[in-house]
Amino acid sequence: MSAVNERLAELAELGRHENGIDRALGTPQERAARERFAAWARARNYALTQDRVGNLFARRAGTREGARPILVGSHLDTVPTGGAYDGAYGVVAAICALEALDERNAATEHPVDAVAWVGEEGGRFLLGCLGSSVFTGAHDVERALSLQDSEGVTLRDALASPEGGLLDGVPMREEMRVAAYVELHVEQGPVLEREAVPLGVVTAIAGQRRYRVVIDGTSGHAGTVPMARRGDALCAAAELILAVERAAIVAGESVATVGRLVVEPNGTNVIPARTTFSVDIRSPHDDRIEAVEKALREAATEAQARRRVNTSVERLESRAPAPMDPKLRATLHKAVAALDLKAIDVPSGAGHDAMCLSRIAPTAMLFVPSIGGRSHVAEEETSPEDLETGVTALVASIIEVDKFVI
Ligand SMILES: [Zn+2]
Repeated sequence: MSAVNERLAELAELGRHENGIDRALGTPQERAARERFAAWARARNYALTQDRVGNLFARRAGTREGARPILVGSHLDTVPTGGAYDGAYGVVAAICALEALDERNAATEHPVDAVAWVGEEGGRFLLGCLGSSVFTGAHDVERALSLQDSEGVTLRDALASPEGGLLDGVPMREEMRVAAYVELHVEQGPVLEREAVPLGVVTAIAGQRRYRVVIDGTSGHAGTVPMARRGDALCAAAELILAVERAAIVAGESVATVGRLVVEPNGTNVIPARTTFSVDIRSPHDDRIEAVEKALREAATEAQARRRVNTSVERLESRAPAPMDPKLRATLHKAVAALDLKAIDVPSGAGHDAMCLSRIAPTAMLFVPSIGGRSHVAEEETSPEDLETGVTALVASIIEVDKFVI
């Protein structure tokens, strides 16, 4: 087994239980993964540092005095019942890439840091991309440390505990300005497999908006209230849900999901009085997200006028699309083409640490195929050959990016 596959298998044992892998930030299992990363870095004498939220940086020195580092990495945490590849792959590949540069005696002008971001999944402390958002200044470090989990444990306390805390004997990172960021990740979707290509260069990470919709109607006896007199909150919800689905199809390159629906009182012979449901809209194009939101609001207004119900649409979260750097994308394509490998442009529907990094430095992402397009489940998988191809492409990309960035 090659190093990348061996190490992923090692990490997959940390936090493994019968339904998958669980490595939430600040748990012993997640800390063990950070320890493993630290051990790999120490074995090669890469300068290892951490920051106050636990992000880890393993630096291979560059040749030019004062040059900013190129950062390469991903995250070590998982969703509950997660798989072995989401995040972990990009971190392991980054370390393998540094080693490959050693083996070739390849000097780079810029230092290259393999990075393990903490808390990307946002399960325990309810803030996605926690580590990278603090690193890039999108979130204040003190505020992040004050976040609490469902048991009331703060991130500050979790990171101070010996079980899940910061690593012993690893110095704190100095301030750094970043030359570029490259993240290698599993696709988590079906496009590369369907197109039978080993690599994708990400065009943009989709923006996302989330809503809570509440429809208030009038309850009543399912047998006695005539159809014309009803204010059925579930029938109104059905119209809104289908309107959102249609709007996403019409807009194109966008997806919309109603994943949660609560019906009250939820009785077989009672007309629904209230429905509450979630709407999640994503697209790499902000105007298309806007168009789907508009359709949702219009459908709500229309249902209210026609159906004896009150509707409210509340936007809970809004994240702008993050386009990847065009020049860096071209650089990655060039690096991959020189290896005689095929790569296509793909958007990313899922969020990544690269979203945060793209606000402070030229950023690009490489994808490898996910078997069956499955992800965030124990069964997520990428073939060992594709995993190795990804590392090869990452090494070539680092060498090209080193020539191109300031
Ligand atoms: Zn991920």
